[in-house]
Amino acid sequence: MLFVVKMQSIILDGRKAREAFMPQLVEKVKAFSSVSGNVPTLAIIQVGARADSDSYVRAKKAFAERIGAAVKHMQADENISETDLIGIVRECNAEHDIQGIIVQLPLPAHIDKDAVIDAIDPKKDADGLTAANIRRWLGGEKDAIFPATARGVSEIMAHYGMKLFGKKVVVIGRSMLVGKPVAAMCLNEGATVTICHSKTADLADETKTADIIISAAGKPGLVGKEHVRRGQVIIDVGISKTADGKLVGDVDFDAVKDVIAAITPVPGGVGPMTVLALFENLLDL
Ligand code: NAD
Repeated sequence: MLFVVKMQSIILDGRKAREAFMPQLVEKVKAFSSVSGNVPTLAIIQVGARADSDSYVRAKKAFAERIGAAVKHMQADENISETDLIGIVRECNAEHDIQGIIVQLPLPAHIDKDAVIDAIDPKKDADGLTAANIRRWLGGEKDAIFPATARGVSEIMAHYGMKLFGKKVVVIGRSMLVGKPVAAMCLNEGATVTICHSKTADLADETKTADIIISAAGKPGLVGKEHVRRGQVIIDVGISKTADGKLVGDVDFDAVKDVIAAITPVPGGVGPMTVLALFENLLDL
């Protein structure tokens, strides 16, 4: 008689993993508050009112409340000039009661995002995106502030006992916000890394060589059955909204789930870990 054994992939649950990191973070918040007499405070500078940015800001505020930290949310008009926006950043730099600053991306096209980000004091750069901090994480400095998504990916893997050291990782996406910092984080942790992007000639050819696939393209269904092989781990960073309002990742979950070894769901995978990591960055600052 022939027995067919169906493999069940492990779901890497970001909400559960986040809870495991919470007690330590709450302790750090308490320690900061008792020493300084202040609540650790993150300034979020937003321009305009994109629905996706609004929902990310809401999630950050709710998380801050849970851990006893504070968010100072500054929302500038869509038409604000670059000079005035940089002025807001500088005011936050000077304010003693603010320990971390992020500029909610994307910014409108008339503003040079790099000029605004580089106005952030690197000592308050909670997203790790100033030129000074990029140099530090790219250089593999141990206490560098990593962009939150990269830190979140590293921590969800650590929580599930998955090591990057010596592994072959394929990262899909090469943005400064996600793809490149994730790739640098993997390199720093001892992985061999390939970065794929929209001009990669044969994506499946590359992804099949990986032990771990980390997808950050924002293209629903990009990674399907033809891109994976048995035993791989998939970290799905992508978040897109379907026409009926559902949040989905880059990976066709149903097509790959019986082949691969483990996968992060969307929602409930990397997303919750990214918010955690942002506040871990704040406490490190
Ligand atoms: P981006 O648009 O700046 O970059 C997308 C990258 O994907 C580009 O480098 C592009 O070359 C690559 N790409 C696009 N189409 C491709 C294809 N067909 N094949 C291979 N590569 C392709 O986006 P981003 O800011 O880097 O964000 C990426 C995704 O991650 C988005 O869905 C975003 O919403 C999501 N995101 C999630 C979190 C989280 O916490 N889970 C945080 C930040 C961003």
